[in-house]
Amino acid sequence: MAYNIPLFNLNFDEAEEKAALDVIQSKWISSGPKCMELENDFSTMLNAKYSLAASSCTAALHLAMLGVGIQPGDEVIVPSLTFVATVNAVRYAGAIPVFCDISGLDNPTIDARQIKNCITDKTKAIVVMHYAGFACNMDDIMQLAEEYRLKVIEDACHGPMSEYKGRKLGTIGNVGCFSFFSNKNISTGEGGILVTNDEKLYEKTKLLRSHGMTTMSYERAKGHSTSYDVVDLGYNYRMDDIHAAIGIEQLKKLVPDIERRAEVRTEYIEQLRYVEELIIPFKDYDEVSSSYIFPVVLKDGTSEKREKMRNYLSENGIQTSMHYPPAHRFMIYKDFVRNELPKTERFADTEFTLPMYGSLKRDDIAYICDTIKKGLKEI
Ligand SMILES: *Cc1c(COP(=O)(O)O)cnc(C)c1O
Repeated sequence: MAYNIPLFNLNFDEAEEKAALDVIQSKWISSGPKCMELENDFSTMLNAKYSLAASSCTAALHLAMLGVGIQPGDEVIVPSLTFVATVNAVRYAGAIPVFCDISGLDNPTIDARQIKNCITDKTKAIVVMHYAGFACNMDDIMQLAEEYRLKVIEDACHGPMSEYKGRKLGTIGNVGCFSFFSNKNISTGEGGILVTNDEKLYEKTKLLRSHGMTTMSYERAKGHSTSYDVVDLGYNYRMDDIHAAIGIEQLKKLVPDIERRAEVRTEYIEQLRYVEELIIPFKDYDEVSSSYIFPVVLKDGTSEKREKMRNYLSENGIQTSMHYPPAHRFMIYKDFVRNELPKTERFADTEFTLPMYGSLKRDDIAYICDTIKKGLKEI
């Protein structure tokens, strides 16, 4: 059916159209000046030293694993409550994902206290995922990382411009990765970016992004170099200038868009705060957040009840989603499960995600909240 209120609404206008057309007309459509401009803009925006545009966040996460030196057989601690790409990236590097539980239903980010129980002699890194654009407990995580000499990779796909104690997410660990997939805060269709303050990590991931080649074709076309060597087994994880040009326009819209999303979030919380059957994760978060999605949890719910609720909303024209089916329940990961993950399972069974985008109207939010309240009585 056609939803009256979709989960997400792209904020494209003539600016993205013109940017893409300009690149096409320039006749340099692969990785070139627009990718460099996007990287510079992103570094400035996040106050990070280096940014590396990539074909997706999945590619960026793979580069991040290699960049911090993950080797086959190493163990990497990951949340199970994330998009599966976070975990797949560990496997691309030949390493073993060790699933860690979340803090709770009101804070579904990796539990710093549980991380400690997952550490073994083989542990090399921790991947954190800042769920919905709200920060993990980075003080405790960085302290553990220091104590056990572990690298920290931030999957910051949900949190461009989100802050933790005034610092931008993605710049606190060794490396951060962001996605520009269509439904993210910054949309280019496909695309992603890696950020780091570590020059060596930047140089290594830059090499691996483009076949392990010592120069890029844009540099050769510009006459900066005439040949190249291949010094490592790399990939083609480059972004192209058409996507980068769209990304540059999207960055200009990011701050006003997340301000608008914060208003939507406040409106939702005002209307749902006292609904006894619901838990609203991060309800009282008081730092800047990208408000990427708006999750709610059915208190004392079941997966059946959650499905009924989602169906009820769907019948009333409201599209919802789930974030996420936990990775440890997927067929390919069932043999990797070492610990019980009760909070992850409970959250995954009872969470549903409401529409969230800057142009979501007040009336629509009121309608969504009223429909939820009715639904809770009827189902
Ligand atoms: C979207 C997303 C990814 C994957 O990003 P792509 O750019 O689609 O590869 C990884 N992790 C999280 C948490 C995401 O939301």
